[in-house]
Amino acid sequence: MRSLNEIVKIDDKLFNIERLITNCKRGSAKFKENKIIIQIPMGISRGENFKMYLNLKSRIIKYLQKHKEIFEEREKSVLKFNNGQEFDVLNNHFVISIADANTKHSSAKLDEKIIKIRVSERLASSTKEKTIANLARRIISYKIMPQIISKVNEINNMFFKSQINEIKLKDNISNWGSCSKNNNINIDFRLVFAPDNVINAVIIHELAHTKQRNHSKDFWNLVYNAMPDYKNARKWLEQNKQNLLPGHKFQYYQ
Ligand SMILES: [Zn+2]
Repeated sequence: MRSLNEIVKIDDKLFNIERLITNCKRGSAKFKENKIIIQIPMGISRGENFKMYLNLKSRIIKYLQKHKEIFEEREKSVLKFNNGQEFDVLNNHFVISIADANTKHSSAKLDEKIIKIRVSERLASSTKEKTIANLARRIISYKIMPQIISKVNEINNMFFKSQINEIKLKDNISNWGSCSKNNNINIDFRLVFAPDNVINAVIIHELAHTKQRNHSKDFWNLVYNAMPDYKNARKWLEQNKQNLLPGHKFQYYQ
C-alpha cells in the first residue's frame, strides 16, 4: 500500500488528502476524522491513476462545499478565559486578570503567576473574547514550551531516536497533532489541559510518523510498542474533547 499526501483548502480550512493505492476494486473518496481519504485501485496505469485521483478529489471537494456541516461542526472546545480564573497547566499555576485599556492594541504579560491581559477599548465586543484567548494562549505556550519540548525529546529518545526539527503548540489544527516531512511537530494547544497520558499519546502518534509516513500496520506497531494503552488515551480524548478548557476538572483515568 502506497500513500501520498496533499493539502486542500475548503472555506479557509486546510484539509489533508491521503491518497491510498490499495487492492480495492473501485476508486473512492471519503471524509473521515477531519481528512479526505482517496483510495485508488492498484494495477492501473499512472495516467489513469492520476485521472481517477483528480476526478475523485474534485467530487469530494464539491460535496464538502455543499455539505459544510460535515466539517464545520465544532469538534474541539472554544477556548475561553475569564477574569479571576485560576488553573494549572503542567504544574504551573496561572491566574487570569483582564482589564480594559485605552490603547490601540491589546496586550498581555506574565507577572509571576498572573496573566495580565489588557484589552483595547476600541475592540468590537464580538472579537474581545477571541483576542483574550489568543493572548492568554500565547503567554501560557511561551511559559510551558520548555516542558513540552523536553517531554517530546524524552519520548523520542526512548522509542524513536528521530531527528526532530521544530516543536510547536498550535491553535485548532485540524487534527490533534501533525508531523511534517521535515519532522516539524505540531500539537494542538488544548491538549495542555488534558491528562499526561493523553498528550503523550498524541506526541507518540506524531513521533511514529517520523518513521512511518502513513497509518500502516508498521506505523501502529510503533505506536503500541511505545504506548500499549494508546487506544484508551485516544478514546478519552474523543469523549472529553469539548472539555479541554482551563480549570476543567476531569475524572482522570489510569
Ligand atoms: Zn497520523
